[in-house]
Amino acid sequence: MASLSIDNVCKTYNNGTDVLKGIDIAIDDGQFLILVGPSGCGKSTLLNMIAGLDDISSGDIRIGARRVNDLSPKDRDIAMVFQSYALYPSMSVRQNISFGLEIRKQPKAEIDATVNRVAEMLQITHLLDRKPSQLSGGQRQRVAMGRALARNPSIFLFDEPLSNLDAKLRVEMRTEIKLMHQRLKSTIVYVTHDQIEAMTLGDRIAVMKDGIVQQFGSPQEIYDN
Ligand code: ADP
Ligand code: ADP
Repeated sequence: MASLSIDNVCKTYNNGTDVLKGIDIAIDDGQFLILVGPSGCGKSTLLNMIAGLDDISSGDIRIGARRVNDLSPKDRDIAMVFQSYALYPSMSVRQNISFGLEIRKQPKAEIDATVNRVAEMLQITHLLDRKPSQLSGGQRQRVAMGRALARNPSIFLFDEPLSNLDAKLRVEMRTEIKLMHQRLKSTIVYVTHDQIEAMTLGDRIAVMKDGIVQQFGSPQEIYDN
């Protein structure tokens, strides 16, 4: 686990669009940060910068004491859960979860133990031999979470992970994510449009608008006025 600090991060796309105009955010080890703001304000862009999926134009991102600007996604010790799950369609659930450990050359026995432990935690043990196409939306989301959990990263990044689920599953998974955070004390950055998710899950909320952080604080500070 690790703290995260984002210092004066700017992003201008090649076509000249200024998307991020000096983002400053710092959270402690184990804190759950929520990013909210209108569509197009740059939430996904910021998440991609933390993940290393896209270059920042200026500024610094630190995970723990380490400046990660120039590190590849693989070397950043983060794991990301996407809105559309982004599972590998031709791989089984087991392979989807183990793949990230195999490319990091973990020993086979260790990988098997991790996959089994994570599958048990997420109650997907009976699905390990299936392909993603044979799963419901809620099950796919569990596999996507399992893949991230198996990595045991310093920071989890979630991009609207529950927005494709129906209302009942959304509440159920929200509770599970909260329990997971309490249990593992993970550092999390979580993008959502859902105010209840933000209030239930967040230790800190950053409200973004027009490429800057307009408000930053605890859920009480953000929503009680
Ligand atoms: P969301 O609002 O759900 O985050 P968007 O519809 O804004 O997603 O964007 C979907 C994808 O399209 C993103 O990966 C984003 O990088 C890309 N994208 C969005 N706008 C543009 C654009 N103007 N030019 C090129 N790519 C874009
Ligand atoms: P959000 O996640 O808050 O909906 P995004 O980060 O997806 O916002 O997008 C922020 C802005 O950047 C949008 O105006 C989008 O059109 C633009 N954008 C995203 N990706 C690209 C891209 N690859 N090239 C140009 N513009 C982009």
